[in-house]
Amino acid sequence: MLRRLLFRRRCALCREPMGLKIPEHARICQTCAKEVRQSYRCTHSKAVACCARSDAALLYKDQVRRAMVRVKFYHNTNALHWFAEQTTARLLANLDDWKPDLVTFVPTSPLRKWMRGYNQSEVLARRAAERCGLPCADCLRRRPFGKRQSRMSSDQERRRNAAHAFLPRDGVRLDGKRVVLVDDILTTGATAEVCARLLLYLGASEVCLLTATRVP
Ligand SMILES: [Zn+2]
Repeated sequence: MLRRLLFRRRCALCREPMGLKIPEHARICQTCAKEVRQSYRCTHSKAVACCARSDAALLYKDQVRRAMVRVKFYHNTNALHWFAEQTTARLLANLDDWKPDLVTFVPTSPLRKWMRGYNQSEVLARRAAERCGLPCADCLRRRPFGKRQSRMSSDQERRRNAAHAFLPRDGVRLDGKRVVLVDDILTTGATAEVCARLLLYLGASEVCLLTATRVP
């Protein structure tokens, strides 16, 4: 109790100190939990080319968007773990329908991963895979010195940039496997489409896309 009094945890969404009565495993406060249930849940999926199914845990707006920015640019691991929990729950909910053999993720460049300390999509994928008892494999890589998708202003630019950004890893074969591709944000679907196409090229029989968040 003393430790909890001295080091008050903060809500991963609103950043307010958490009440002492909140269970230790909770990462967001009760107010935010209610708000998430009411207005951040993704209720329908967006069709993405090359992906047989697609689903997202949360809508990428307001508090959720700000939390994801903290994950990407300010090393906020509390929010990252919360996104991982949400993504895991979504994979568990789709498990019977998707029947996946393997989980993989959208890669980032080694330099960016080193600077950030993690590839958030990889963390989400590994956590969800582990919880579902599935293997998680590193199937794709990013061309070095590519431009960030978030820097692209138009849909067309994003597509052009994504088309040349990824490569399959040497020696990876996915013959007949049903693969779940995990990413942090679904915006236009350009990145997911390119990655899914590569996974199909590597032999996957089907690719299902799972993202932590999706732009409304
Ligand atoms: Zn909160």
